[in-house]
Amino acid sequence: MIIIMKPGASAQAIEQVANIVRSKGLQVHLSKGDEVTIVGVVGDKTKLRGANLELSEGVDKIVQVTESYKLVNKKFHPEDSVIPVKNTTIGPGTFTVMAGPCAIESHDQLLQCAEAVKKAGASILRGGAFKPRTSPYSFQGLEEEGLRYMKEAGEATGLATICEVTSLRALSMAAKYVDMLQIGARNMQNFELLKEVGRSGLPVMLKRGLAATIDEWLNAAEYIISEGNPNIVLCERGIRTYETATRNTLDLSAVPVIRSKSHLPIIVDPSHATGVRAYVEPLSKAAAAVGADGLMIEVHPCPSCALSDGPQSLTFEQFQQMMEHLKPYSDLAGRKLG
Ligand code: PEP
Ligand code: MN
Repeated sequence: MIIIMKPGASAQAIEQVANIVRSKGLQVHLSKGDEVTIVGVVGDKTKLRGANLELSEGVDKIVQVTESYKLVNKKFHPEDSVIPVKNTTIGPGTFTVMAGPCAIESHDQLLQCAEAVKKAGASILRGGAFKPRTSPYSFQGLEEEGLRYMKEAGEATGLATICEVTSLRALSMAAKYVDMLQIGARNMQNFELLKEVGRSGLPVMLKRGLAATIDEWLNAAEYIISEGNPNIVLCERGIRTYETATRNTLDLSAVPVIRSKSHLPIIVDPSHATGVRAYVEPLSKAAAAVGADGLMIEVHPCPSCALSDGPQSLTFEQFQQMMEHLKPYSDLAGRKLG
């Protein structure tokens, strides 16, 4: 449940309400807006029976939160969150572009990608060092060697870096080298991994599971935030449907749905959603138009030589052009492209 304080309620009144809640063994999460403060309550609310909180000084009303996710719920935190990542932020006002290769394949491949995506205006470099491949015989990633290249590329260009972690071992390694962690679609409900990234303190991008409902996705985010890490960005990357013309079906309606249910930013990954290079630009424009906070795009110096996801990867030139074509859309959405 949430306790909505009256506009301008005194700090003393807020503290008194919070203390009553804590004294019953429940957790308090304060959300201070410009005018109204919301006291979020997590735990067994039956313990508050008889506390008559609605009669406490400064309380406006009490609203029950029926959803199982609480801290990521917009009712707990009505203002949209802004997530800091290195020298940039993800959230209102910006249309963040993360770009780079599917997999880090070599020092030169990654450094070239970093230079190219930076020049085209991206602010975050992506690249997989641990690849969750469908076949165990496909390229599995350079692991720590790749992470070292990532750190070097981030330092050389000033770009923030993001890398997927697929296990607790990958997480403890990646945390030393990158600015942001990625939980991939296949691990969206790997709850032990979610709890651990929640404890890592690093910003996290949580991709939607291949067949996950929006409710399941938000509950997965709740696992991370409930461990004390509020720096979460959601990523819609397409879901499994009966359609075979694209690799997955991009659920663009997830963007306004998430916007109405959560304060977390949401970005769109048209590369994995479609698996087809030609569809990346039109869906990137659509993502800007529908109110997304940014994009994740796969880029490769030679897509036909790529060790993974070549057919959906853009060349440097295609990426540069896409960024130019995207600008009017991000302008119209009132966001700074980058
Ligand atoms: C990726 O971004 O490299 C990736 C594997 O994507 P997804 O988890 O969405 O399949
Ligand atoms: Mn990929």
